[in-house]
Amino acid sequence: MFKKILIANRAEIAVRIIRACRELGIESVAVYSTADRDSLHVRLADTSICIGPPPSSKSYLNMDAIISAALVSKCDALHPGYGFLAENAAFEQLCSKNGIVFIGPPAEVISLSGNKSMALEAMRKNRIPVIPGSDGNIKDARHALACARKIGYPVILKASFGGGGKGMRICSNPREMESMFSIAKSESASSFGMAEVYLEKYIKKPRHIEFQIIADNNGDAVCAGERECSIQRRHQKLLEEAPAGNLSERTRKTIREYAVRAANAVNYKNLGTIEFLVDENENFYFIEINSRIQVEHPVTEVVTGIDLIKEQIYMAAGLKNPYKAKEITINGHAIEMRINAEDSEHNFSPSPGKITDCIFPLGPGVRIDTFIRPGFIIPPFYDSLIAKLIVWGSSRQEAVSRSLRALDEFSIEGIKTTIPFQKKILSNQRFQEGNIHTHFIEEQFGL
Ligand code: ADP
Repeated sequence: MFKKILIANRAEIAVRIIRACRELGIESVAVYSTADRDSLHVRLADTSICIGPPPSSKSYLNMDAIISAALVSKCDALHPGYGFLAENAAFEQLCSKNGIVFIGPPAEVISLSGNKSMALEAMRKNRIPVIPGSDGNIKDARHALACARKIGYPVILKASFGGGGKGMRICSNPREMESMFSIAKSESASSFGMAEVYLEKYIKKPRHIEFQIIADNNGDAVCAGERECSIQRRHQKLLEEAPAGNLSERTRKTIREYAVRAANAVNYKNLGTIEFLVDENENFYFIEINSRIQVEHPVTEVVTGIDLIKEQIYMAAGLKNPYKAKEITINGHAIEMRINAEDSEHNFSPSPGKITDCIFPLGPGVRIDTFIRPGFIIPPFYDSLIAKLIVWGSSRQEAVSRSLRALDEFSIEGIKTTIPFQKKILSNQRFQEGNIHTHFIEEQFGL
């Protein structure tokens, strides 16, 4: 087993990983930018090293600074968390070159997963259902128009190297396609550094359901259940659940098998997520592979009892996948609410600043993953996620009422947060009935 792990991340996920290390008796090394000097991950780690000034490009994305920190502190492994360098194949290679084990899949798997049109091609070859779309990248506007005509409008243009729900454009007719194509291409270039885009049939009112994969270095993969992530605002997840409600047992079982097949199709190693869209008739389509731990991993942990961060560490250390031999059971229902430093009354605009006071909810079935505390200043440079409230109930109904109870107890003062908006979602009758799809927020709240 590893002796010392460097955590190449910040905020709640860095804290989460440090906790797993501590429980495993592994020393942890935190890295931080000067804006995060007082952050909880710096306090909780055994050692901490400053890697640069606030902008991510000079700190959390600075590969050389991070590798130097790992070498100086004699770490034998590195956990990238999510975001930043977590899905950067060159970074995995740099870690290996320096004798540091990257806790995640190897570079080839990261590259293939990150290149959406290549991943789709691998799925088609393995007869995994994908959304009808272009075979690979779109060359030019004429090619886009021809593809869209064949598939039928509406279609969605997507950045081949996109992520985080960004870089997507819906086109309802040829005129829109003509104007959108160059916009989508230049957006893709400016946001993801690559101009490549591809095209898919736009599925109306789908649900986003993703499947957790655990695989060892021999490629032995299993599925640890699914997460329903349809509550999104502008393609960004706000609330997630496990298991997915309103899904027939037959479909659930079938997609789980396809998820394992998808993992095998790319020779997946370590933990990853296979995302599917599911339409109103329970037709399902692979959309992408995320080769890292997901923000919403705790809902799976809560209903399966599996510590997914520890599993990532075990798999990276070369241990055999224990779940090949034992069944994973799902117990009850879990909901995760993302608490962002955003003003939900004013277009979800960022609301960094000083937290003057905060009270965390406690009591049965409540877990909070966070790095905030009274007096802490949320820096303006990074992601707005400041806490995840994760609630367990013996049924979905109990999880919903307990979530509302926990949200009522939760108070964060000094900045605006998404707590009031989460209350609106959970109080919504259609949400409570489990009648949801990816346009739920737009339809119910006009956002
Ligand atoms: P990202 O990597 O940016 O998260 P995804 O491919 O996972 O992109 O898609 C994010 C979200 O965009 C999905 O959850 C869904 O809401 C929407 N979406 C993506 N593809 C389609 C599609 N073909 N039809 C309808 N909605 C889609």
